[in-house]
Amino acid sequence: MSTQTKDVSMDDIISLCKRRGFVYPGSEIYGGEAGLYDYGPYGVELLNNIKKSWWQANVHRKENYVGLDSAMFKHPKVWEASGHVGGFSDPLAECRNCNHRIRVDKELGAIGVAADEKMSEAELNSLFDEHRQEIKCSNCGEKDFGQVKAFNLLVKSNLGDFTDKGERPVYLPGEACQGIYLNYKNIVDTTRVKVPFGVAQIGKAFRNEISPRNFLFRTRELEQADTQYFVKPNENKEPYEAIKQDRWNWYLSLGIREENLRFKQHDNLVFYASDAWDVEYNFPSYGFDEIEGIHDRTDYDLTQHMKFSGVDLNYVDPYTKEKYIPWILETSMGMGRCFLAVMSDAYTVEELEGGETRTVLKLHEDLAPVKYAVFPLLKNKPELVEKARKVYEELSRKFVCEWDDNGNIGKRYRRQDEIGTPYCVVIDFDTLEDDTVTIRHRDTTQQERIKIADLLR
Ligand code: ATP
Repeated sequence: MSTQTKDVSMDDIISLCKRRGFVYPGSEIYGGEAGLYDYGPYGVELLNNIKKSWWQANVHRKENYVGLDSAMFKHPKVWEASGHVGGFSDPLAECRNCNHRIRVDKELGAIGVAADEKMSEAELNSLFDEHRQEIKCSNCGEKDFGQVKAFNLLVKSNLGDFTDKGERPVYLPGEACQGIYLNYKNIVDTTRVKVPFGVAQIGKAFRNEISPRNFLFRTRELEQADTQYFVKPNENKEPYEAIKQDRWNWYLSLGIREENLRFKQHDNLVFYASDAWDVEYNFPSYGFDEIEGIHDRTDYDLTQHMKFSGVDLNYVDPYTKEKYIPWILETSMGMGRCFLAVMSDAYTVEELEGGETRTVLKLHEDLAPVKYAVFPLLKNKPELVEKARKVYEELSRKFVCEWDDNGNIGKRYRRQDEIGTPYCVVIDFDTLEDDTVTIRHRDTTQQERIKIADLLR
């Protein structure tokens, strides 16, 4: 087969996600809800496979890492200690013409003016004033904005009767990692871990993003896969480099092409951080952007929680009796962004000889939502259907399989190509004689004849 690969755009990927049941717009029958998406039947399989790979790499294959699943709701003081109540905000300005709000830091960045995260509202206002005439409202095109105001990203909720009394607002998690800090002491007290050790968790987070955009890239409900590695103070440099390398290798293990990944160091560090890097992926249409943050956070998180809770969070070395607050090295990956990177990397349109095209998701076998598609050659031959059913049932005990007896074989192959199924198995009249099947390989479209027993290995 001679093929040529065509360029793809993010719109192509969004369209395939919808058409083939990977991702649907949230609350679609009500006209949709900005920044929310639902994973469909194939999407949830792919998402779960990514999570499984991440969990194996970060918990099961690492002797000194353990897993956690903490409650989403937390004591309201957690978000004060973490700094989210006071400082988790985006600077916004409202268009006087249409009331659309823009992210001032992003708009300034787009015209080459760097807005520092640490800038006060007054400083941002004066910087914005200098460049007002260069910034247009992305909704109506006017250049008439009000003052810049900090807009808190935490999503408030009500739990118990706290909010009724107006005393203790509860928040949905702004980031998933706080549960790890809250349970650090429990884990040290109840398991065999000793510093240095890591805790891993996949958890939901909610952010009142003012302009959710770019499909799964910036959503209001998201999932983060986090690891927090607890080390002795000042013993952070070497493990930090090892963690960066380990994360890089994990992306490669998913089959993501190395040329589509890069590291980017943060220019402006928050005051407590000693180093911070992002892993970026080269998204179609959007270009390189962050999928994961790797942060060297010193003792900030545990010190804050010790201060706000009044509980001693010092670690006592069991051998030397040395007492200290561990420093933390964090990795935080957005599941949705990773899903989008995996889809983007796998999405391929091939121009075949004769002008035809084939869309194929070249997903790593471990990530593919369906491993085997089983086809009886003809659906009106009961003996073929019966034999194919048997093959399907046997394979289903071990692998995720799909049954398809609809339409001609070529069309069935194309459908499986679009959802990334690595193997299609055809049961024909020879199968009835010798228990062999035709197996067709997704990426090469090559077919071979093999024994049914060999499929199960
Ligand atoms: P950004 O600068 O893009 O807003 P961030 O630096 O605030 O991201 P972190 O708080 O470090 O992100 O969160 C860790 C990871 O969580 C990010 O690398 C990203 O993959 C993911 N993430 C953060 N915000 C969102 C969002 N609104 N939608 C989807 N994923 C997100």
